[in-house]
Amino acid sequence: MRTLESFLTGKWSSGPGTPALLVNPATEESLAHVAPAGGLADAVAYGRDTGGPALRALTFRQRGALLQSLAKLLHGEREALIDLAVTSGGNTRGDAKFDIDGGLGVLAAYAELADTLPDDPWLAVDEPAAVVRTSKVRAQHLLVPRHGLAVHINAFNFPSWGLIGKLAVAILAGMPVLTKPATSTAALAHRIGELLAGSNVLPPGAFQLLMGPAQDLFDHLGPQDVLAFTGGARTAGLLRTHPNLVASGVRLNVEADSLNSVVVGPDVSEGELWDLVLRDATVELTQKAGQKCTATRRLIVPESRLPDLRDALADRLADIAAKTGNPASKAVKMGPLSTGQQLADARAGIVRLQEHASIVRGDPHRHDFVDAPAGKGFYLEPILLQATGGALDPKASLHHVEVFGPVATLIPYDGTVAGAAKIVGFGGGSLVTTVYSDDREFVAKAIAELGPHLGRLVLADEKSAAGSFPPGCVFPQANHGGPGRAGNGAELGGRLGLELYMQRLAVQAGAGQLARLVSKTTPAA
Ligand code: NAP
Repeated sequence: MRTLESFLTGKWSSGPGTPALLVNPATEESLAHVAPAGGLADAVAYGRDTGGPALRALTFRQRGALLQSLAKLLHGEREALIDLAVTSGGNTRGDAKFDIDGGLGVLAAYAELADTLPDDPWLAVDEPAAVVRTSKVRAQHLLVPRHGLAVHINAFNFPSWGLIGKLAVAILAGMPVLTKPATSTAALAHRIGELLAGSNVLPPGAFQLLMGPAQDLFDHLGPQDVLAFTGGARTAGLLRTHPNLVASGVRLNVEADSLNSVVVGPDVSEGELWDLVLRDATVELTQKAGQKCTATRRLIVPESRLPDLRDALADRLADIAAKTGNPASKAVKMGPLSTGQQLADARAGIVRLQEHASIVRGDPHRHDFVDAPAGKGFYLEPILLQATGGALDPKASLHHVEVFGPVATLIPYDGTVAGAAKIVGFGGGSLVTTVYSDDREFVAKAIAELGPHLGRLVLADEKSAAGSFPPGCVFPQANHGGPGRAGNGAELGGRLGLELYMQRLAVQAGAGQLARLVSKTTPAA
């Protein structure tokens, strides 16, 4: 069986330790071993000292051209990558495309953004401002690339999107990358790493791939480095308190758990908008078997509309339940969870949700699935719950337990924005919430009252229903991140995304000198 190694300091290698076994989540067949790495101090230094200067010697546009080449390269391998995502991640072909095309979309968007940036080593954030009205001294803010390493730690659910998306932004900003995929689904990330490393598109040291555990990696990071983490809140907590990361002031961005909501406005009862609620909810519960950080977990519905929505949604989910199984089969619409541990965690989470809700559709212990070998695979059919109490109890499990699978809870509310905002806020900070309404006053209030709890607010109305996207779609132009429990992180968001990898620098100088230095730049945001 193949052993997947790390690509560090310009070569493929592994270190001591027991390799981890990767299996096909649909059949539990063995796929490959992941070998732990060694020599992480050297890798950090190599990225910083070799990759960093090489990238900073290029203009934004030249770095954008690198992204363009990578997009072309990976696009040429798209079909093979999709096949690998199906066997190694339990993805249906649709799920696999979502992950792979999502990453390619970020590459393309940041390559395009590069064309709008100046041929300078920095980006201006604002216009020069007089520090004192009578003085010629001005202050202006620039973003300059940090002289460190961008370390990316990714979650298991998007091995492609997580790797490529984070890489695109860091490279355009001028920082070398060392990326660590989650081990359980690392086969796809490893193949992408092979393609990137083998292409020689990026300068030496600009891309390194760490397989297996992070080991002592964080002990070697310093004040110019950036650590962008995506994963669970518990792991995030370990990083937030890691002695060296704290002592060295390493910039840390966290994308963690999120209890995303949808709010159905009191005016929505039929027509295209009602259909959109059902369509989006079905996608958000079942795409990637609900293993998306942006998936809808809480459906906040006016009490009087809840029975209709529950019955209609249950019908749609029953259809997907009948087509849940081995994604190698064309008939299958939803695949398994990624690991046995994820399945055990999801079932335990459903038990927790049942403290304040009851299951209205689905069986968490069903064991027969389409084309799945008997007793094998980590399958969970779509589960819909309805709150039985606790909707207005901030401590209720339905506001705290993120079941990372095809599971969501219907929660009644009183039809007011204040009522919905309270429930959304109990989630403690989320990546995204969607408000479905044609009532302009309701929607305007929602921005002010729900907004502080969110990184992204999707407003869906009848007019835009036909061309709208399900809320779990993360576009590179829009902010990805959320307050509080979601990690307080911020990624993507077009130009704003570059800020994670750049230092904000106030340059204070005479008006003439500033104008000479910064004349070619345009404000960054
Ligand atoms: P996880 O267990 O926290 O793992 C995330 C990453 O951290 C993996 O690469 C993992 O490596 C690594 N890791 C785990 N323990 C570590 C430690 N002690 N030191 C250093 N690295 C460590 O999360 P997951 O199970 O992969 O992902 C599921 C969670 O991610 C969900 O809660 C979901 O909400 C969240 N998520 C959030 C977003 C977002 O953008 N906000 C996106 C996707 C997922 P190994 O795999 O090698 O252990």
